[in-house]
Amino acid sequence: MPTDQAIQAFGAALRGKLIQPSDSEYDAARALYNGMIDKKPRFIARCVDVADVIAAVTFGREQGLLVAIRGGGHNGPGLGSCNNGLVIDLSQMKSVRVDPASRTVRVDAGCTSGDVDHATHPFGLAVPFGIVSTTGVAGLTLGGGTGYLTRKYGLTVDNLIEADVVLADGSFVTASKDKHPELFWALCGGGGNFGVVTSFLFQAHPVGMVYAGPVFWLAKDAKAVMRAYREFLPTAPEELGTFVGLKTVPPMDPFPKEHWGQRACAVISAYNGPAADGEKAIAPLLKAVPAPIFNWMGPMPFPAIQSLFDPFFPKGLQWYWKGDFVKSLPDEAIDAHIAQAAEAPSALCLMHLYPIDGAVRRVAKGATAWATRDATWSMVIAGIDPEPKQADALKKWGRAYWKAVHPFNLEGAYVNFMMDDEADGRVQATYGDNYGRLAQVKRKYDPKNLFRVNQNIQPAA
Ligand SMILES: Cc1cc2nc3c(=O)[nH]c(=O)nc-3n(C[C@H](O)[C@H](O)[C@H](O)COP(=O)(O)OP(=O)(O)OC[C@H]3O[C@@H](n4cnc5c(N)ncnc54)[C@H](O)[C@@H]3O)c2cc1C
Repeated sequence: MPTDQAIQAFGAALRGKLIQPSDSEYDAARALYNGMIDKKPRFIARCVDVADVIAAVTFGREQGLLVAIRGGGHNGPGLGSCNNGLVIDLSQMKSVRVDPASRTVRVDAGCTSGDVDHATHPFGLAVPFGIVSTTGVAGLTLGGGTGYLTRKYGLTVDNLIEADVVLADGSFVTASKDKHPELFWALCGGGGNFGVVTSFLFQAHPVGMVYAGPVFWLAKDAKAVMRAYREFLPTAPEELGTFVGLKTVPPMDPFPKEHWGQRACAVISAYNGPAADGEKAIAPLLKAVPAPIFNWMGPMPFPAIQSLFDPFFPKGLQWYWKGDFVKSLPDEAIDAHIAQAAEAPSALCLMHLYPIDGAVRRVAKGATAWATRDATWSMVIAGIDPEPKQADALKKWGRAYWKAVHPFNLEGAYVNFMMDDEADGRVQATYGDNYGRLAQVKRKYDPKNLFRVNQNIQPAA
């Protein structure tokens, strides 16, 4: 453990704050999005600039501390924190600068996707991020990033132009296709393994008003809806980001009271373009299935659909995640999904299938570390409930559900939908042929595995 003198010197070197267990704000500062995770770091370095990050990386390395990197703090297993070590907390680094001429946006590592949507929307632009606006851009991007704009514009990493990075030795580099190209390749899906990213430069795209929202059916129609969605997706225009899910009708207004708490199937979409075109785009699916219990698709500003589900998922709920990449969805798999979803122990539990097609498939498999470009969906099963005493039931349900459907799926999963209890070999399976190259990059940029609080890639021997 560092001496008092070393701790004092570190605190004095920071423009931001060094928070320790005796500080009054310690409990608030260590709290993560997932209330199931209760980690107690020895130090939280609230960095405000790159110099702070360099000081923190140097302190962590020289003192032999376990080091975690925190962007938005949304990670399922809480990989933005650690016990007894140092958290490099970037949450105060929030600058966003839009360049409308080049349609690019420079984003500091503490931003949420909502921060970026807020900044780009007045310019009629957006970057493809996820579907909940409180999610951190840093962790989401480094893991890959899927959302409504993915079918048309690719994964978040497909829109990454460059990243500023503080490496394990405390040096600073900018990585892009031309500068440190191997590091840049690895950052595009390889997670937080290679250094602390302090800012990202993204390509943005014209996105203004969208035709978007959820359509819900009761579980009795889930089979018909999932089958129809499976056939519809490859025919749908790429401007339509659309995923299918198994859920429960939330027992609250404005949901129809007669259906509160009933099992349901939902298709949730955003069409980037005029409402009339959006209606036309979703019509073939709606024609192929029974009438929904409600269809709340309508015109709205893009940031509105991005934050539509935020109120259901405030910070501090219990979350247990399982994921898989899915190539095809045979009828037997649909049956297994519906049977498992029916056993959910809580109304917030869900299963979503996010499309991996369109622009994602147009990027070569080896072009980024993110490898599973021939999947059709990224599946997430999330057991969610406000009550800590439900934690075991959520885990039990999530594991049983995953076990029942995994035989229909590919071996790997999106790293951002994994907990910390995956079987050996899951991370390797996820990166497939890219794993060996990732291990080489890791050896070059972080040979001692300083950055190991993540879905870890071991440095090549
Ligand atoms: C409600 C909810 C909705 C979600 N929806 C989506 C979605 O639609 N699409 C999608 O793709 N994902 C989605 N996710 C998953 C999300 O991508 C992950 O939870 C991701 O880890 C969040 O990033 P963060 O910065 O908030 O996490 P943190 O917990 O802060 O960090 C997570 C990991 O990222 C690494 N990391 C973070 N910041 C940095 C950095 N600056 N430099 C280097 N490494 C860093 C760390 O190693 C850490 O292991 C969702 C998650 C939640 C909770």
